[in-house]
Amino acid sequence: VLAALEHLPLELTVGDGLSSVVAVIRGNSRERSVLLRADMDALPVQEQTGLDFASERPGYMHGCGHDLHTSMLVGAAELLCASRDDLDGDVVLMFQPGEEGWEGARVMLGEGVLDASGTRVSAAYALHAFSNEAAGRVWTMAGPILSASSELNVLVTGRGGHASAPHLAQDPLAAAAAMVMELQHAAARELGPEKEGVVSVTRFSAGERVNIIPAHARLWADIRTLSPEVDAHIERMSRRVVDGVAAAHGVVATVDYLRKRPATVNTAAETDLALVVAREVFGNESVSVAGRAMAGSEDFSRVLQEVPGCFVCVGARPASLPPDEAPYNHSPMAVFEDSILEPSARLFATLAHRQLKAASRRSDREL
Ligand SMILES: [Zn+2]
Repeated sequence: VLAALEHLPLELTVGDGLSSVVAVIRGNSRERSVLLRADMDALPVQEQTGLDFASERPGYMHGCGHDLHTSMLVGAAELLCASRDDLDGDVVLMFQPGEEGWEGARVMLGEGVLDASGTRVSAAYALHAFSNEAAGRVWTMAGPILSASSELNVLVTGRGGHASAPHLAQDPLAAAAAMVMELQHAAARELGPEKEGVVSVTRFSAGERVNIIPAHARLWADIRTLSPEVDAHIERMSRRVVDGVAAAHGVVATVDYLRKRPATVNTAAETDLALVVAREVFGNESVSVAGRAMAGSEDFSRVLQEVPGCFVCVGARPASLPPDEAPYNHSPMAVFEDSILEPSARLFATLAHRQLKAASRRSDREL
């Protein structure tokens, strides 16, 4: 990234905590700025695409299209540097490592990326490529577009004993098994249709030997929600269910509820602008408002907790692949259509221009 940006008239800084890169492009006003973000990291997946530019590092692959995002933002840097005399403010380019569960955005926020230009950015945009949606299709929506993720950890403690004499033991395994059923049952019966949330118990561990009742059992659940209220509801519900089942079984349970990522929530004005610009760049018929949020999570959510903005999805399925056969992001076979790079770079650059123009008109009006 540094080599690709070196020849451009922009201000480059590298992160302390991570291999992050922040570039500031100076427009003709220091009063306002906008942020464009690309994540850069790969996944621990052995690539099987057979492409001649496949990953050369064994066990690592750009399976989520983050190499495309990085290229898009480098392309946008070229376009923005060439047109910086017409920029009504500064542009902060956020090249972010560690999106796939490593809290890269949080580290960059801590290092001040939102204030990198000297003024707090007034909005932030990110693009994401999807290998299973038609190349050039663009979609987004106001409100939550990606879910929050939380994790429930339960440790059940009973009294171990002989398999032949359960009455002399307190069986944590049977209690934990009941918790698996009751937690998922409670989620299905207690969250109304307007309260979107998913509770999946995904890991369970208890016992070593067939003739021993163990002293402990553990279970883990993955929780996806679209609002902090539903997440808080699921935490209360989980504690109540776990405590109730533990009491019924005469065992003791401890509950940890970890909030891992907030929901990615797009703001209305920035989403409207993204849709307008996307229609200009990709064509009217290619752009749509998403009908519902997606279940994945993103740490761009942390940026959108601080400033308004929009997360925009771009289809990248090569035309040679039928829709139902295209491997999805994170698959070792996932392939992405390169021809979306040029319009995506233009989308990024045009968004920055328009956002700054809109912000400058707003400040004129306030004066
Ligand atoms: Zn991704």
